[in-house]
Amino acid sequence: MAEKEFAVLTCPHCGHRQEREIPQDKCEPFYTCDGCGQVVVAEDACCVFCAYADKLCPFGHR
Ligand SMILES: [Zn+2]
Ligand SMILES: [Zn+2]
Repeated sequence: MAEKEFAVLTCPHCGHRQEREIPQDKCEPFYTCDGCGQVVVAEDACCVFCAYADKLCPFGHR
């Protein structure tokens, strides 16, 4: 079993930072910000982690 990995996402709308688990088996194209409640969509990346987090998803390491 792979260990759980967490990244800190920074909301592009309000700047709120929140920790979120990085799914190891799929890409996550959007998430809901805890700060402003808006749905944050990754537009130029495979997922929200590659776009807005301090770590890349497992699929972004290619
Ligand atoms: Zn926000
Ligand atoms: Zn990614």
